[in-house]
Amino acid sequence: MSELLTAYARVAGEDVLDHLVQLAAHYRDLKVVHVNSTRVGGGVAEILNKLVPLSRELGLDVDWLVMQGDPAFYQCTKGIHNALQGNAVNLTPRQLEAFEETAARNAETLRPQLEAADLVFIHDPQPAALLAHCPGRRGRWVWRCHVDASRPYRPVWRFLRRYVAGYDASVFSLAAFAQALPHPEYLIPPSIDPLSDKNVDLGADEIGAVHRQFNLDPGRPLVTQVSRFDRFKDPVGVIQAYRLAKGFVPGLQLVLAGGSAEDDPEGEVVLAEARTAAGEDPDVHILALPPDAHRTINALQRASDLVLQKSLREGFGLTVTEALWKGRPVIGGDTGGIRLQVVDHHTGFLVSTPEGAALRMRYLLNNPALRAAMGEKGRSFVRDNFLLTRQLREYLTLGLGLLRGQADRIDLGE
Ligand code: UDP
Repeated sequence: MSELLTAYARVAGEDVLDHLVQLAAHYRDLKVVHVNSTRVGGGVAEILNKLVPLSRELGLDVDWLVMQGDPAFYQCTKGIHNALQGNAVNLTPRQLEAFEETAARNAETLRPQLEAADLVFIHDPQPAALLAHCPGRRGRWVWRCHVDASRPYRPVWRFLRRYVAGYDASVFSLAAFAQALPHPEYLIPPSIDPLSDKNVDLGADEIGAVHRQFNLDPGRPLVTQVSRFDRFKDPVGVIQAYRLAKGFVPGLQLVLAGGSAEDDPEGEVVLAEARTAAGEDPDVHILALPPDAHRTINALQRASDLVLQKSLREGFGLTVTEALWKGRPVIGGDTGGIRLQVVDHHTGFLVSTPEGAALRMRYLLNNPALRAAMGEKGRSFVRDNFLLTRQLREYLTLGLGLLRGQADRIDLGE
């Protein structure tokens, strides 16, 4: 086994790696392609940046293609994203045209690779229309939905469904997100890479360095939320919760750390809303970080006494997984994929309001022993369920199932 695979085995377990190696052997002559719409920013890029190299290390022939769009396209796809998560968004005819045209234009360059692939994973709505432009495809195509689609705004879902219905299968993170579709649907939650800069263990010096860099006082309690500036992440609600908690936790400090994703046009507006809500409070630190600030985010999560993810909707919430992996309890919005990870009273607390978040912050910040116990449970919960190795195993199994067309059994001994 290579050095990298051995390193994964050390964290995830030998048996887990053995299983991956066995599955990978069945991909010897197969070509796999992933497509999304940004290389940096947001959870999908975060996963593909790690999933693709691990797949290659296992000997798979994998490509990651990124769709290119213009502002009108991203306005449209942000609208689709918001509508899938329940907002009543009415897309204009111009936006719908941009969706269609962008797929057609991208297909011009991507078509040869897409049509030749044996297995294509199309991530999220942005590239969903590519399928319609690849009439000569030979492989199986999977639509991988990462967003909380539990209660989509129906007119927009009907529009997107026309494209998605043509796929061979779709994958959702949670059963609650699955929609009626004329093909098999699978549940595969996302995962984090324990060896990445975002998640590796750090020394005290690196954690001390972020204290100094951002003017944080290591002697006072600190809570952090890491997120793109997106209203579904509720940064303003986080500031309200911090204010309420501060009455009971003197000296409390808050970090809201985020950057923007290339395919997210609303970030600047929401960042400005958070700045206004924070006002002149010197203990609220709003950090607009560059997209490659992985070690900084890692250190901020570790420097925190607990981590917040007070989302109003959340497909999965990799930031929750990252915090749990670092032994930090998470106070998270009672929604979507956060429910899969925050086991109420065990790995953290689920909340629905700023008041609820404040109460739990006060309780946990005054209970260091409980924080440590919850943190330990969180780390082992992630190890067992949400590491990259588990997600890759499920993708590889799904792919073999689709390619072989066998309903209920994949014999690795073949
Ligand atoms: N992230 C980052 N920089 C930022 C904000 C987020 O690197 O400024 C990372 C974060 O650590 C996590 C991912 O982007 O790995 C966000 O994934 P999540 O599932 O939490 O939310 P999404 O952005 O996909 O809605």
